[in-house]
Amino acid sequence: MRISRFPRIRFAHLPTPLEPMKRLSEQLGGPRLWIKRDDCTGLSSGGNKTRKLEFLMADAVAQKADTVLTQGATQSNHARQTAAIAAKLGLVCHILLEDRTGFSDPAYMMNGNVLLDRLHGATVTRYPNDTDMAAAMEELATQLRDDGKRPYIIPGGGSNPIGALGYVNAAMELVAQADDRGLVIDHLVHATGSAGTQAGLVTGLVGLHSGIPVLGIGVRAPREKQESAVYNLARGTAEHLDLGDIVGREEVVANCEYVGTGYGLPTDSMVEAVGLLARTEGILLDPVYSGKAMAGLIDLVHKGRFKKDSDVVFLHTGGSAGLFGYPQKLGLSERNELSLRPRTGIERREVNAEHTV
Ligand SMILES: *Cc1c(COP(=O)(O)O)cnc(C)c1O
Repeated sequence: MRISRFPRIRFAHLPTPLEPMKRLSEQLGGPRLWIKRDDCTGLSSGGNKTRKLEFLMADAVAQKADTVLTQGATQSNHARQTAAIAAKLGLVCHILLEDRTGFSDPAYMMNGNVLLDRLHGATVTRYPNDTDMAAAMEELATQLRDDGKRPYIIPGGGSNPIGALGYVNAAMELVAQADDRGLVIDHLVHATGSAGTQAGLVTGLVGLHSGIPVLGIGVRAPREKQESAVYNLARGTAEHLDLGDIVGREEVVANCEYVGTGYGLPTDSMVEAVGLLARTEGILLDPVYSGKAMAGLIDLVHKGRFKKDSDVVFLHTGGSAGLFGYPQKLGLSERNELSLRPRTGIERREVNAEHTV
């Protein structure tokens, strides 16, 4: 696919590990489950947007941009990774956040990804639900141009044929890793949202004739809409790579039955999945994407969707910073706290600020 033709700035920690999830596989009594750790891409607590940003930021720099704009939900992982790489490259970063959940508690509004956006020095502007965010970015870009700036717009989720190259590359990386260890991957499962991850993976895996089917677990749109978005972007990505018409419509499969009441709104099965992975594998998922995708994977294992002796890879797309935006919604209560009766002879010392300085 000669992906090295395309400008790329290398900052992701690659290849990300491919690891077995032994305790989870045992607990579910299902197929052998593996995890591809794209939560470990290295940029400001990691995640899948980092791979896309390697290509998008190279394009921005090639266009001599001095400012980047992007948009997402309040707890957007994409916004946080964009803010981080903009900081590293010395570019100004403006983040436009849309309220997609209606949550207004301080943790959701200020902690998690929002805290990190600000820490990386990005400006944050908030918009109500159902704002035309692409139009809002255009408007801001026009203002910036009028002020003599050179803005570069990164679409939500970094999902366009340039960003999707990051996941074409990930497909090549995964296939090489599996070949290295003699692993035959029967299924690849991951969260799908703005479509770039799945579009890039499908294009790459089809381009390599890998025979690995991809299952996207939706987090927002209904199935038809999600599959069309992925399919259209996969076709655009294949065209960008001069591969012609290689992606068939049937290669694009999404299951959107685990969204619950809406994007970013917690579900019981998400809370269970996040807890289960934390307790069995020591792995942090996130409430909006990987938690719902894992909830889907677990349910499908229970329903016998995968053969017991097959090998299923879960692509962990990151997002753990989002956990800190949802503290009250993760089903934790005092039951996790062990209260010990104070033993005689152990003095309880009060800790105050003066002692810790
Ligand atoms: C953005 C995101 C996704 C979805 O990837 P898309 O390329 O937008 O489909 C999945 N997981 C996490 C943690 C994300 O931040």
